[in-house]
Amino acid sequence: MTTIDSSKHKKAKALKPGSVRPAKELCSECGLCDTYYIHYVKEACAFITQRIDELETSTHNRPRNLEDENELYFGVHQEMIAARKIQPIEGAQWTGIVSTIAIEMLNRGLVEGVVCVQNSKEDRFQPMPIIARTPEEILAAKVNKPTLSPNLSVLEQIEKSGMKRLLVIGVGCQIQALRAVEKKLGLEKLYVLGTPCVDNVTRAGLQKFLETTSRSPETVVSYEFMQDFRVHFKHEDGSEEKVPFFGLKTNVLKDIFAPSCMSCFDYVNSLADIVVGYMGAPFNWQWIVVRNDTGKEMLELVKDQLHTQPVMSKGDRKAAVQQGIEAYDKAVTLPMWVAKLMGVVIDKIGPQGLEYGKFSMDSHFTRNYLYVNRNHPEKLEDHVPEFAKRIVAQYKLPE
Ligand code: FAD
Ligand code: SF4
Ligand code: SF4
Repeated sequence: MTTIDSSKHKKAKALKPGSVRPAKELCSECGLCDTYYIHYVKEACAFITQRIDELETSTHNRPRNLEDENELYFGVHQEMIAARKIQPIEGAQWTGIVSTIAIEMLNRGLVEGVVCVQNSKEDRFQPMPIIARTPEEILAAKVNKPTLSPNLSVLEQIEKSGMKRLLVIGVGCQIQALRAVEKKLGLEKLYVLGTPCVDNVTRAGLQKFLETTSRSPETVVSYEFMQDFRVHFKHEDGSEEKVPFFGLKTNVLKDIFAPSCMSCFDYVNSLADIVVGYMGAPFNWQWIVVRNDTGKEMLELVKDQLHTQPVMSKGDRKAAVQQGIEAYDKAVTLPMWVAKLMGVVIDKIGPQGLEYGKFSMDSHFTRNYLYVNRNHPEKLEDHVPEFAKRIVAQYKLPE
């Protein structure tokens, strides 16, 4: 185990905006290097030293059970459920379970602040991380900013504020770096509420995605790659636009995902106490993974505000994943009518619930494994966690 040096970090200097980060092109702009915690970057950066296995054990008090298929895929957990808010938060990404947990924690005095990400005044997709101290500030951070977001750039403010109890909301790469410096933050209690995350982009990449995929890029307020194999765009006027995955312009879009996200294997946010996403749940439900007792405590706070049901699993993903690997590698784009037809067929007979979650993970892990092998072969062995190696080994990959 790597031990982190005592608190000399305050003498370290944050990097200036725009300067090259230690992880170079693989940097996901998690924000750590915008603070004096850059002192720990070698041990903390998910792209310099991958430490999921070790940090999973120290965070959840046990390693992931690789022999249990659900743990192999979704990480250490005590419980998984499907859930929806009885009264959804308008304008949230899904029904607003993430914002609701954060608000309850603040209102009940469990935490003094919540690290979350609002958007800048000028641009609804430009992330602006903050430490929220009121429910209004948490609500103003609702909905995904589908771009790389420097959530950890507020870490210095935590130490300076003297806060002792904190909730951090974030995605996998941010949470790995956070867990690595957790003991240096001077907190009595840290709660971590994660979301899954995949295929993230820079702000410029997002613009290209919107322009090549949506009928009206300038009015999109949010979007999601849904379990019905379509991208659902929500527009300002409340209308919804659906574009089948298979009709996406793969040849144009191949380069838009950030190199960090093409090299990422922490789709399910392994080090959070609780994870709230959608991909392991039936269509239109959210999916909650409780990893440890702290996560359980967080879920209990909001259970009376949720409809819940057990998770389910249906279908067989394997053939679709294998075909997808080859189609993606050849950058095949189907004519729109074929894509729509395929979307409908797969929606009716394809993987659902946990099987859909595994479909998405298989597809992304195989793609990312190929990317690392082709672009950073020297990193492959150490960078890919054991669970991801086992998942990828189920498929035949092109050279
Ligand atoms: P809300 O109540 O709307 O709250 C959203 C919270 O997310 C806010 O607190 C905000 O601070 C935080 N946030 C927004 N953008 C970012 C960001 N860029 N980095 C860190 N934190 C952020 N779930 C899946 O199951 N499968 C996926 O493939 C998947 N991909 C995702 C990709 C991205 C880039 C992101 C940010 C999330 C993804 N999710 C995925 C999670 C899912 O889209 C929802 O965020 C989650 O279900 C919570 O919905 P909600 O309505 O409860 O959140
Ligand atoms: Fe620094 Fe984070 Fe970039 Fe790694 S990913 S180089 S820790 S800002
Ligand atoms: Fe970070 Fe991975 Fe999400 Fe990219 S896909 S922003 S590397 S968690």
